[in-house]
Amino acid sequence: MSARLDLILLGPPGAGKGTQAKRLQDHHGIAQISTGDMLRAEVAAGSPIGREAKAIMESGGLVPDAVIITMLGERITRPDCARGFILDGFPRTVPQAQALDRLLEEKGLSLSAVIELAVDDAALIERIAGRFTCAKCGAGYHDRFHPPRVAGVCDACGGHEFVRRADDNRETVTARLAAYHRQTAPILPHYAAQGRLFRVDGMAEIDEVTRQVEAVLAGLGPSGGSR
Ligand code: ADP
Ligand code: ADP
Ligand code: ZN
Repeated sequence: MSARLDLILLGPPGAGKGTQAKRLQDHHGIAQISTGDMLRAEVAAGSPIGREAKAIMESGGLVPDAVIITMLGERITRPDCARGFILDGFPRTVPQAQALDRLLEEKGLSLSAVIELAVDDAALIERIAGRFTCAKCGAGYHDRFHPPRVAGVCDACGGHEFVRRADDNRETVTARLAAYHRQTAPILPHYAAQGRLFRVDGMAEIDEVTRQVEAVLAGLGPSGGSR
């Protein structure tokens, strides 16, 4: 198989998945697939999926597996995935992980790596409370850990408008962390058993996390996901 790169970034809300996924997208020409971003677009559009997902997302719970799996199955066939993809926020349950195994098998693909970003719960609350993104290009920032170089101006596109997510508040974060530990962490052994799981220290600074992720990818060898 050619040098496709098909990755999963796994970790609790605020671990840095989106931040690292955007960098991987830029460096490797593969598609960032954030099921959270896709759902927020459905909510904004007022589609049937969006109407079903809105209240669940605001409460910090998980949207039903069937909805997510259909959405994801369609997404990974788009042309921007020709060289591979980075799944950011999927899978989040054991049934989602099993469905992904089947989807990849049908397409003759296999995962290059599953990278876990390990971060303490206490740090996550602060990361989520300070998170904001550029309204125009989606670049991610943090009040304290990653402010724009010029206050009020997006580094990436020069935009002046920024947004904060409705679910990035203390109450919802607690529910999201609970959902992570109860429903998502159990998929780690699934990938460990496949010999695909790599752990990176998500408590390190953003650039250091990027270095550690790239070191994992370099260690996969030129054949990438074709093992
Ligand atoms: P974060 O990056 O903070 O973990 P996301 O943007 O990935 O948040 O997800 C936001 C919300 O969207 C989740 O709390 C959940 O309600 C819903 N969601 C996103 N991805 C999934 C998924 N794979 N399965 C179920 N619900 C999901
Ligand atoms: P996730 O997609 O896993 O929910 P994000 O990538 O959105 O996480 O990161 C959450 C917040 O923490 C953002 O405001 C981001 O700028 C910041 N952040 C990301 N990685 C780090 C890091 N290694 N150290 C400090 N802050 C970080
Ligand atoms: Zn921008």
